[in-house]
Amino acid sequence: MVIDTNELKSIDRKARLRIPYQPSPKQRPEQRVHNWLEVYESYDLETAKLEAMRCIQCPAVPCQKACPVDNDIPGALLKLESGDALGAAAVFRETNPAPDMCGRLCPQESLCEGSCVVGKKAIPVAIGRLEAFVADYERDHGGRTAPESAPSTGKRVAVVGSGPAGLAVAETLARRGHGVKVFEAWPRPGGILRYGIPTFKMDKLHIDDQVDYLHSLGVQFVFDRVIGRDVPIDQLFADGYDAIFLGHGAGKARRMGIPGEQLEGVYAATEFLVRTNLEADELPAHMRQPLEVGKHVVVIGGGDTAMDSVRSAVRTGAETVVCAYRRNESEMIGRVEERRHAKEEGVEFAFLVNPVEILSGDDDESVRTVRLQRMQLGDEDESGRRRPEPIAGSEFEIEADTVVVAIGYEVDATLTETTPGLCATEWGTVAVNSDGTTSRSGVFAAGDNVRGADLVVTALADAKRAGAAINEYLCLESEAQPDI
Ligand SMILES: Cc1cc2nc3c(=O)[nH]c(=O)nc-3n(C[C@H](O)[C@H](O)[C@H](O)COP(=O)(O)OP(=O)(O)OC[C@H]3O[C@@H](n4cnc5c(N)ncnc54)[C@H](O)[C@@H]3O)c2cc1C
Repeated sequence: MVIDTNELKSIDRKARLRIPYQPSPKQRPEQRVHNWLEVYESYDLETAKLEAMRCIQCPAVPCQKACPVDNDIPGALLKLESGDALGAAAVFRETNPAPDMCGRLCPQESLCEGSCVVGKKAIPVAIGRLEAFVADYERDHGGRTAPESAPSTGKRVAVVGSGPAGLAVAETLARRGHGVKVFEAWPRPGGILRYGIPTFKMDKLHIDDQVDYLHSLGVQFVFDRVIGRDVPIDQLFADGYDAIFLGHGAGKARRMGIPGEQLEGVYAATEFLVRTNLEADELPAHMRQPLEVGKHVVVIGGGDTAMDSVRSAVRTGAETVVCAYRRNESEMIGRVEERRHAKEEGVEFAFLVNPVEILSGDDDESVRTVRLQRMQLGDEDESGRRRPEPIAGSEFEIEADTVVVAIGYEVDATLTETTPGLCATEWGTVAVNSDGTTSRSGVFAAGDNVRGADLVVTALADAKRAGAAINEYLCLESEAQPDI
C-alpha cells in the first residue's frame, strides 16, 4: 500500500486508520531460544514514522490518561511522524525518567495501548515499541544532554535502594541541587531491573545508561549496604542526612510451605533468574557458583516472574519446561505477550494444578518429581478472580530435576522493624500518605515497598511524587533555619 504522507499531515483520521500496523521486528523463536538478547529488534526510522502516523491524535488522549506517568503520547508521536525522533524522546522524558525501560517493560495492553482508540477497530498503535525506539534513537544520536541542575542547596538525602523508585527519586532531587547518596544492598544498581528482569526483555545497558546519567548529576552510590541492618535509619540522620527516601521494594520471595521445598534443585525465582542471567561478578559472593539447571524444569506460578523463569530455563537448554499454575489461562495476571512468547519458545503449560509436595530420589536430597493436585474454580475471591479449589484424590507426579518457585513477593520487614516511629500496614508495606510521606518525619517511601509487588511504571510515578514532596520538605526546612 502506498501511503500519501502529505495527506496525513492535516490529521485526516480516516486516512490514518488506513495505514497498516507496522510490527516491530523481532527475533524468531527458534533463533532467540539460543541467546539472551532482547527479543525485539529496533524499528528503523521510516517504519517508526509510519507507525506513529497511525495515531489519530484524539483530543481526549485516553492513552495519556491511562499512563501512570502521564506521558504526552500523541505529542511525542506527532514529533516522531515528522521525523523528529529526538524531539519525541524529549516529550517522553518530560514526564518519564526511563522511556527506554517503560517502552520495553510496561504492560501496554492494559495501559496506553489498551486505551488506544485505534485499537477499537484495528491493532492499537505500538506505543511501547515507539517509546523504546525514540529513547534508543536519542542514546545513539548523542544521548541526553544533562539539564542545568539547580545550584547546590547544601541539603543531603539518603536514598535506600537503587530500583526504579530509588533511581527516579535520585534524579529528581539531584536536578534540584540536593546532594544524593544511594545505598544499595546488592553489588550493582538497578533493583529488579538488574536482579530479576532477564536480558531478553531488557538489556542491562539501559540501567547502566541511567546510572551514568545520575553520576553526571553528582549522585553517589554505595553498594553491599543493607540499611536497617548494617546502618540504622537514625544513624543516617546522625550522619547529617536531611531526608531519607525508602525505595527498598518487595524482594522477599513467598514460599509455598510444602514438604520438599528445601531439596537441592528447588530455587526461589529471583535466585534462579539472577544466577542464570547475570555474570558472577554482578552477584553477591554466595550466589556466584554457576547454577546447574536440569533437563526437566517445573516453574510454579503464573505471573510475569514465572514467565521470565520459564523462558530463562528454555535458554539454559532444558529439554522440558512446564509452567504449573493453579488457575486457568484466562485468570493469569501476567502480560499476554510474555505468555505468547513462552509458548512460541516451547514452554508447556499445566493449568488448574497446585503443587502439594516436592520429592527427591531414594538415596539423595535432589528433587526428582513434583506432586501436583488438580484444581477446579469456585466462587470469586477478593481479587475478583475465581478461587481455585483442590479436587480430592486427583494427585499426580511430573518429572523435575529443577523446580522454580515464582508465587510472588512481599516486603522485607527489616526497615520498619528497626526504625522507631516508622509504621507498616497490616500487609507489611510501608504506610504512607499519597505524596510518600511516612509516619516518621523526614522519611519518605514509594515503589513496591508501598504498593506491594507491582510495576516499573507505577514505581516511577509514585517516586516522582515522593521526590517532589522531599524537595518541598527540604525547602521548608531551609526557610525555617534561622539566619546566622
Ligand atoms: C522477575 C520479575 C519480572 C518483572 N517484570 C516486570 C515487567 O516486565 N514490567 C514491569 O513493569 N514490572 C516488572 N516487574 C516488577 C518491577 O520490577 C517492580 O515493580 C519494580 O522494580 C519496583 O521498583 P522498586 O524500585 O520499588 O523496587 P526494586 O526494583 O525491588 O528495587 C529495590 C532495591 O532496594 C534494595 N534494597 C532492599 N532492601 C534494602 C535495604 N535494607 N538497604 C539497601 N537496599 C535495599 C534492593 O536490593 C533493590 O535493589 C517484575 C518483577 C520481577 C520480580
